Amino acid sequence: MERLWAPWRLEYITAAEEAAGCFLCAAVEGDDEQGLVVARGRQALVVLNKYPYASGHLLVAPARHEGEFGGLTDEEATEIHRLASQGLGALAETYSPQGYNLGWNLGRIAGAGLPGHVHLHVVPRWAGDTNFMPVLADVKVLPEHLLETRRRLAAAWPSA
Ligand SMILES: [Zn+2]
Repeated sequence: MERLWAPWRLEYITAAEEAAGCFLCAAVEGDDEQGLVVARGRQALVVLNKYPYASGHLLVAPARHEGEFGGLTDEEATEIHRLASQGLGALAETYSPQGYNLGWNLGRIAGAGLPGHVHLHVVPRWAGDTNFMPVLADVKVLPEHLLETRRRLAAAWPSA
């Protein structure tokens, strides 16, 4: 069971980078390609995880720099759930995953790579992907493919 949900294994990689600032806040303020932004709501946004557990690994976060899960407003919580739901739609349309893991890593000990800005992980799953590689031949977990993944998911994003 442990192997099925372990995105924190990769998140630690980002720790050094994050010392320079919050990549989610940078994504809020920057352009879509640079921030790997797939969709924007009014109070939340969806970005691709730069170090994905699987292709299409999304992070849904409030636009506001909030470190406490309980600190989310009702509007933010609702929009994060709605964006996650739309993300499932875009992923289904684009990559046809066989399942999904959705989860929050709260605090460093729980694997949060960015404890200061809470975010919901949406991880598409395929049979046999436990070695980080989806079975789809044309989908590879490589950083240079992130821009293409972003483009495809943004294009398939369901309208609200
Ligand atoms: Zn932030």
